[in-house]
Amino acid sequence: MPVLRLVAKKMLGGVILFGAIVASHDTAWASGLPSDFNVRAQTACEAKILNEMEAREVFSGKAYDVLSEVARAYGRPIPHIYLLPDSWNMAYLAASAAVDGRGKIVVGRRAAVLFDRIALKGFLGHEMAHLVRDNAALGCKDYIVRDPEMEADADALAARTLGTQPVKAFLERVLALTEGQNFDAKRRLAMLQ
Ligand SMILES: [Zn+2]
Repeated sequence: MPVLRLVAKKMLGGVILFGAIVASHDTAWASGLPSDFNVRAQTACEAKILNEMEAREVFSGKAYDVLSEVARAYGRPIPHIYLLPDSWNMAYLAASAAVDGRGKIVVGRRAAVLFDRIALKGFLGHEMAHLVRDNAALGCKDYIVRDPEMEADADALAARTLGTQPVKAFLERVLALTEGQNFDAKRRLAMLQ
């Protein structure tokens, strides 16, 4: 099925090249929330985004279990976890941790199926690293393109927290699924050695 394969390849490229942070990311503040942070507006905006994505919160299953394990390793409460139908993507909602201290991670259902537990752990560990680092975001906007340095930092934090193996497994899985075409994954894998 060459067409499906091509689509899969394109979308998987998106897993890491694009789209994992919903919200703008350009401001960081050292302590607490900015005075104009509006929890109610943030909550409403997040609900709207999740609804538009048709993402559903789950309370059990593979992705939930693995995320619980990851959150424990980070010493953090388990973020809300949402499954996204027909997607390979994974995202976290920036600023969502500021709403209730947990944060929200959105997992593509296909990623949850196609990644084995160890690779999924690396994937979620990477997203969790963003969430932990992101004590600040301007709220609920749109996808932003991620900068390579931020990605490498998130990999490094995940590797320190969970061990290198899951992060390697995650990047290797992406490379395998994209038949070695994902240069971002290749580069990050090399940085991890
Ligand atoms: Zn990332």
